[in-house]
Amino acid sequence: MRPPICAVCGERFDPAGKGGLVYFVMRKSDEEWRKRMKKIHSVGHPPWAEWFCAKHYPIAVKYNTLTIDEAWKRMREDLKIT
Ligand SMILES: [Zn+2]
Repeated sequence: MRPPICAVCGERFDPAGKGGLVYFVMRKSDEEWRKRMKKIHSVGHPPWAEWFCAKHYPIAVKYNTLTIDEAWKRMREDLKIT
């Protein structure tokens, strides 16, 4: 697992606070990643999860019923990031 650095603004934050790890819907590639990790008895940072600071956590949670690719598209629109 990566340290808690917001995927939107890059801010490092305290995970005991309001920010946190958001898991999105797994893509096919994510299922394969999980199988691969299980096989080699390894854990890494799940590619379908990202950290979000207190400011950006609510917007990420809003889209956690989507895959991370789709969620990023919507988040960029909401945050006006191009
Ligand atoms: Zn942030």
